[in-house]
Amino acid sequence: MPELPEVECVRRSLSWVIGERITSVDIRRPDVVTGDCSPNGLLRGQCVVGLRRHGKQLALVSEKGTVVVHLGMTGTLLTVQHGHEGWQQDRHVHLRWRTGKGACVIFRDPRRFGGVWALKDESALSDHWRLLGPDALTITTGQLIPRLGATRQPIKSALLDQRVLAGVGNIYAVEALHRAGIHPMSVSRHLDARDVQRLARILHHILREAIRAGGTTLRDYTDSLGVKGGYALRHRVYGRGGLPCKKCKTPLADIRLAGRSTVYCGSCQVLL
Ligand SMILES: [Zn+2]
Repeated sequence: MPELPEVECVRRSLSWVIGERITSVDIRRPDVVTGDCSPNGLLRGQCVVGLRRHGKQLALVSEKGTVVVHLGMTGTLLTVQHGHEGWQQDRHVHLRWRTGKGACVIFRDPRRFGGVWALKDESALSDHWRLLGPDALTITTGQLIPRLGATRQPIKSALLDQRVLAGVGNIYAVEALHRAGIHPMSVSRHLDARDVQRLARILHHILREAIRAGGTTLRDYTDSLGVKGGYALRHRVYGRGGLPCKKCKTPLADIRLAGRSTVYCGSCQVLL
């Protein structure tokens, strides 16, 4: 599932679209769209003036309307060059935006947990994103302390809660907690200011490192140009249950927490 680094890599690889005018929109599955699912509602005739990301969501901002894309589990936005029409046989392509250059952006999502929101303008985007916590890449310790202090959730669940902070999913949550030496079952409000500061610093570091590596490809993730991410090679705990901890060699534990696999080292990570 794409998390913040993967969505950021998609955003960066789509930067060619800024300044382009959307000449047509093909809507194959209107049910993936929330809001005005007409071509005009999906930016036909508009010039794209920006690509913004908050947490795991991406927004194409035009002079008038804004389109927000949630990639969900298997969603991708792909760049398709003029003349490459192979996507037409692909039944998982739900939307296509054609630009003045002739290149297209397609939204492909086999499992359809993702979706597209057609919004009137950028102020509607602020409302859409108000439900999310601060972006995990830039959240400050000062923002994180009261948010973790207000919840009785285990820290791992709080990190995954997009209302607490936006962008972290299972991979980067377990990686950050291992590097911070914090047990995933620790009660969030038991972390003191120094723990939160350390955790925020490590989260920023890991997310930036993952963006530089092009994100994590487990199965099918690529950026919009089809480039896979190389960060999976640097995972210290994710997907390594039962294998030795890279710090202390203790076999890593793998438990289910809120239905999700949670790998940690019982020796390096302290229960708070
Ligand atoms: Zn260890």
